[in-house]
Amino acid sequence: MRVIPPPNPLPEPYASLRDTVTRLFSSRIVPEIGGYEARGEFPRPLVRAMGEAGLFGAAFPESVGGSDIGFMAVAVISEEISRIRPDLGYCMNLQAMTCPFTILNWGTEEQVTRFVPPVIAGERIGMFALTEPGGGSDPAGAMRTTARRDGDRYVLDGSKQWITFSHEADVGVLFAKTDPSAGHKGITAFIVEPKSGPGYRADKIRMRNLSPVLSSCAVFLDGFSVPATNRLGAEGEGFRIAMNALEYGRLTVSSRLVGAAQGCLDHALDYARTREVGGRAIGRYQLVQGLVADMAAEIAAARALVRELAETMDAGLPANRIASLAKYFASRAAKTAVANATEIFGGYALADEYPISMFKGFIEMLNVGEGSTNVQKVLIAEDALGFKDANRASVPARKFRAASGSRAAE
Ligand SMILES: Cc1cc2nc3c(=O)[nH]c(=O)nc-3n(C[C@H](O)[C@H](O)[C@H](O)COP(=O)(O)OP(=O)(O)OC[C@H]3O[C@@H](n4cnc5c(N)ncnc54)[C@H](O)[C@@H]3O)c2cc1C
Repeated sequence: MRVIPPPNPLPEPYASLRDTVTRLFSSRIVPEIGGYEARGEFPRPLVRAMGEAGLFGAAFPESVGGSDIGFMAVAVISEEISRIRPDLGYCMNLQAMTCPFTILNWGTEEQVTRFVPPVIAGERIGMFALTEPGGGSDPAGAMRTTARRDGDRYVLDGSKQWITFSHEADVGVLFAKTDPSAGHKGITAFIVEPKSGPGYRADKIRMRNLSPVLSSCAVFLDGFSVPATNRLGAEGEGFRIAMNALEYGRLTVSSRLVGAAQGCLDHALDYARTREVGGRAIGRYQLVQGLVADMAAEIAAARALVRELAETMDAGLPANRIASLAKYFASRAAKTAVANATEIFGGYALADEYPISMFKGFIEMLNVGEGSTNVQKVLIAEDALGFKDANRASVPARKFRAASGSRAAE
């Protein structure tokens, strides 16, 4: 696959960060990923290389191995990874945001210093396990997984669905009900180490259009034991922690959507300039130009919303409202981009020689991740109508301070 240079200029330090991604992917990740796919092997050394290049630590303080540049850097890195290889964009959620950032934001000093540095270094694989077979749009209503206190441990039973990297994960944030009769107030968050003992199984879900090695799985918990010291926050605080994690996760998901959309546009432009039909490059036909103009305008608008989201987070302001707007519009722009790219490529959109069908699979997946389009629409409309303030449950990022304790203790 050809790596097309990134399109728009960026100010420093973001231009250098994006350049780091483009160079790493051109020189190592793109040439090597096919080998892992052919062998059916999870690309741990590539995740490690991304961690070593500093791609996961931009929103983390230097005290835990991050670079503390901020959320704008996260958006730029996520977009560039997904523009080139949308499958590896998963890492920005699991190695850089929903797993380690949730631990940073809610963990004790001991939890943060033990679990965060190896995940953002790419040494340990992360996961985030909220969704259950009963449905992802209403996680509290659908949650059947339970955690029963037994001395200095909790015993977990139940199942999770669609949990990305759970077949490889060394550490994850997982939600279960400690009080099943208390609705969303009965949910508690745990830091789990899947390889720490019996009672954990992850079965890959086969998906033809997504990666054969960067998989999502059904997870089964059968008396899986977690030390009480791995509880994240207080008992009953899990729903608040999950919603906060999704707020930050929407930054990476929406920037991944912008990146995948830009990838569709880049390849479509390349093709429209060179593919000749009727003696002219197809890009010379105005109906094809109309497809290009719609893609370019929607991507630019989506990117502006994602950057506003990153700025809001960098300013420490409540970000749920702008997160929903950015996720919703980035999904729309990405759907337009892949539909128009498919039109421009004609039959070749289906050929593995070009990446359009790969982008399509990931755009469909990102459309549901961190809240589906309908869920975002409901949040946006209820906020606009004044029924429910979208920012009511926003919890700004905590800068980790030594000995700060958990949020519950603050
Ligand atoms: C490849 C992949 C990877 C994933 N990785 C993870 C992961 O790592 N961790 C994790 O926890 N989850 C993960 N998910 C789960 C994802 O977050 C859910 O798929 C998503 O939340 C939607 O849930 P659902 O698929 O159960 O759809 P459902 O909740 O069953 O919804 C089905 C449809 O109904 C619509 N709908 C639901 N409620 C309403 C409403 N009130 N009004 C209008 N329409 C509504 C939805 O928009 C959707 O179109 C992943 C999913 C996929 C496909």
